Amino acid sequence: MSTIEELLANNRTFAASLEPEHRDSAPTRRVAVVTCMDARLDVYAALGLQTGEAHVLRNAGGVVSDDVIRSLAISQRRLGTREVMVVHHTRCGMQTLTDDEFREELLRETGTTPPFAIESFADLEDDVRQSVLRVRRSPFLAHRDQVRGFVYDVDSHLLREVDAGEEA
Ligand code: ZN
Repeated sequence: MSTIEELLANNRTFAASLEPEHRDSAPTRRVAVVTCMDARLDVYAALGLQTGEAHVLRNAGGVVSDDVIRSLAISQRRLGTREVMVVHHTRCGMQTLTDDEFREELLRETGTTPPFAIESFADLEDDVRQSVLRVRRSPFLAHRDQVRGFVYDVDSHLLREVDAGEEA
């Protein structure tokens, strides 16, 4: 059985265990979390979040890409979120490759240069700061005064804040 088949079976069990409900789509805690897709990071458990409370936007590295800005613009302008939490983590896969090397690998194997930025990073804290500044500087976002950056330690499970300065 494929993993997807197993997950579909899990879903049938999950749905059978709950009553049908119709929740509002606006996150009740008015927060958006931008973080990495890393499988070791259980965002909901680590932050004590419940279903319906937050927008969680994930990609490789937790990069504030144009698509993350797109999602944050919708999150803030249509669904009422007011704060943004950027969370990178220790031992991230994006620290183990370089943009040039990965771009060359894709070009070599496919004959096509990827149209997207790879956005690997060497220094975790520098990248958190840069990500926070990208959010704070985006003209498309309505709420940029409560944007904070963190590093999650995948071994100790603790978050620590990265000072990104006071610029808003
Ligand atoms: Zn990662």
